[in-house]
Amino acid sequence: AKKSGRNTYTFFTESMNRGVSRELALEEQLHGALKRNEFRLVFQPQIDVVSGTIVGAEALLRWHNHLLGDISPEEFIPIAEHTGLIIPIGEFVLTSALQAVTQWQAHYGSELRIAVNLSPRQFRDPNLIDFIKSALNRSGVSASTLELEITEGVLMSGHSFIDEALQDLSELGIRLAMDDFGTGYSSLSYLRRYSFDTLKIDRSFIKDISVSTANRELVTAIIAMGHALGLEIVAEGVECTKQQTFLCEHQCQYAQGYLFNRPMNADDVTEALSQQSTS
Ligand code: C2E
Ligand code: CA
Ligand code: CA
Ligand code: CA
Repeated sequence: AKKSGRNTYTFFTESMNRGVSRELALEEQLHGALKRNEFRLVFQPQIDVVSGTIVGAEALLRWHNHLLGDISPEEFIPIAEHTGLIIPIGEFVLTSALQAVTQWQAHYGSELRIAVNLSPRQFRDPNLIDFIKSALNRSGVSASTLELEITEGVLMSGHSFIDEALQDLSELGIRLAMDDFGTGYSSLSYLRRYSFDTLKIDRSFIKDISVSTANRELVTAIIAMGHALGLEIVAEGVECTKQQTFLCEHQCQYAQGYLFNRPMNADDVTEALSQQSTS
């Protein structure tokens, strides 16, 4: 027992050290990543489930590090947040996303939208609103082209500058989406309190609609409630036609997911748009 106890101890310290040193290595590499041009965006189309056409896309960040290889945003975004590096990285995301949508709109219509994720930490940047304003001006697209996706984490702090920032953003005509709806504790009260335009139903609810009656009921209720509040609804993580059919039948108008498209580069979105405009 003594021996296995010691082994357990050794195992834990080693794996903890490995965890810590990976995090340190990531943090170290993250500092130079923008300068080394290691980030790029991919885009996942948002689809009108009835017509099957692309109405916009969500920008998703990718990092390929010269030493560590591909690193998932689930792993590096939290590090970027606590180091504050999310501020310059977020500016890169916004600028590049607007660049992409400018191209798409030039050929395929000004109704096409771009959705960009904002982290809680970015709201503590006093320059956030000005940056967004001037990035929009530089791109030439209208404010309503841009939809900012925020999770409950942003709203939870209860800071008054969050309220002010959200107010400013919606007064500028920028759209606000509540991301990962249903995964937090108070999403409902936040929906009432802030002027959201879009509700994104979290993938975990969509995943089980073909097998779980309870989840079907839940998704049906979320859609009805969203509509009652005048929100557009996007279902996340749609992977099969059963889910698509369910969403159509329950008047959920928009969806994203592997069934339609994997996240792809800007040129592939252009290609997909060109195919749907000729068909
Ligand atoms: P999210 O905002 O909820 O983004 C959706 C995630 O679901 C993406 O993962 C996307 O690739 C994945 N996904 C889309 N369709 C499907 C599907 O049908 N099935 C499954 N299983 N997954 C699907 P990704 O790109 O790994 O991003 C993970 C998270 O990282 C995002 O979750 C978001 O919270 C964060 N993130 C990504 N890019 C950015 C960014 O530019 N800024 C910030 N602040 N966060 C970002
Ligand atoms: Ca998102
Ligand atoms: Ca989401
Ligand atoms: Ca998520």
